[in-house]
Amino acid sequence: MYYTIERAFRVVLTMKKYIQNIRVNLGSTIITVPVFDRTSDLEGKTLLVTAGMDGDEYASIDAAYRMIEELRMSSFHGRIIIIPIVNSPGFEKETSYNPLDGKYPKLVGIGKKDGTESDRLVDWIVDTYTLHADMWLDLHGGNLTEVMAPFLWAWETKTTSIDILMRSFCERNSPEFAVFEPYSFYGKAAMLSQSSCGYICAESGGSCVRSEEAIEQHWLWVRDAMHILNMVSSGSSTSKKVPLYQKYRQYSSKIQGMWYPESTIIRSIQKGEFLGEVKSFDLSKTEKMFAKEDAQILWIKEGMKSSNKEILVATASTPW
Ligand SMILES: [Zn+2]
Repeated sequence: MYYTIERAFRVVLTMKKYIQNIRVNLGSTIITVPVFDRTSDLEGKTLLVTAGMDGDEYASIDAAYRMIEELRMSSFHGRIIIIPIVNSPGFEKETSYNPLDGKYPKLVGIGKKDGTESDRLVDWIVDTYTLHADMWLDLHGGNLTEVMAPFLWAWETKTTSIDILMRSFCERNSPEFAVFEPYSFYGKAAMLSQSSCGYICAESGGSCVRSEEAIEQHWLWVRDAMHILNMVSSGSSTSKKVPLYQKYRQYSSKIQGMWYPESTIIRSIQKGEFLGEVKSFDLSKTEKMFAKEDAQILWIKEGMKSSNKEILVATASTPW
């Protein structure tokens, strides 16, 4: 008995050495968020990695913890910060959104100091970490009802050095295709670029799964991000470039009811192709969904529920 308690105690102490539980004041409450923050003796750039911004995207969270285990011992240049579960209230409730205010932290831009809980959570990250970071790699995946193929997603910022780096990272490290959206003044990436931080979203692991394949992809992306920042000497990027799409579109229906996808295979589609239909609960209304242009499907809702804001199909089109 004594041995077990003593051992458990020792494990806790060891863990505290490399992951801090940071208290974050969200206004209505204070939460704790795990943060790994290691600065090497070797000079170099700073990479911020976040996972669990959507509280139920497990492949990203699993990969972030694996990276921490690896990076606490291994040698690299510069500084790495890994926040494996940003939206810890969402993780607790097994939801993508933050149950404290019903918002998706990924959608609140760079946050707000005096805003709601999610605004304050993101503001804390931006203020504490991104102002010092050269790149923010935000790991995501599909939630329980979304089928997804792995891809990288970035936004033009009009800061040339950042655009070149992010664009090349997307083209060379996304397995099949990537999304690079044109500049938007109020875009999160554009705002972050003002403090010289590049922002990129990495999507792998649909349906909340944490398959080895999905985790490995996230793990590779973290390594590759360190590589392009010259923090490590090798990465997996190749000279092969994948198609880069600039137009993002999401399909949803105003009908509250049931969604019947024609297929849940991630594929390229042609203009006019039937994607599926939504039926109202009393079957009095039906809305058929057709592709508005030739496009690549990014993710599809596999679940049945359709409501006003529900994304049923997300696509990317128009190569650069
Ligand atoms: Zn996500």
